[in-house]
Amino acid sequence: MRDDQWLLEKMNNIWSSLFPEVERKNNVVIRFKGRWKNKFGHIKRLKNKDTEIVINSLFKDLNVPAYIVNLTIAHELVHYMHGFNSPYQQQFKHPHKGGVVNKELKNRGYEDLLKLERRWFKDEWLKIYLNLIKD
Ligand SMILES: [Zn+2]
Repeated sequence: MRDDQWLLEKMNNIWSSLFPEVERKNNVVIRFKGRWKNKFGHIKRLKNKDTEIVINSLFKDLNVPAYIVNLTIAHELVHYMHGFNSPYQQQFKHPHKGGVVNKELKNRGYEDLLKLERRWFKDEWLKIYLNLIKD
């Protein structure tokens, strides 16, 4: 079952395998929230200085491939290492400036998955989304 504990384990695995040199400088929490069509996730700083990563709740559904969840987590972790809503110094004016997130993900071996994700978003997501928001 995809719950918040499953997300936490995924994040920890992705963090240690994909971002081993990125030190965790504060407490990072992750949870499912929202039922969004055009947003996969976000990262924000909480009042207590923790970082919160949020993943679209609709991705709990098993029709959404697990690699979409992985990519979303990895995407938010890139923001973390670039200093957006994390204790790191902010490295860019805007979080997506010049495609910095995808560049970082490509450097870390996610290029093929990014292509798959684009195709899935274009060809599959709308059907799944419309089906999920019915109930
Ligand atoms: Zn982003």
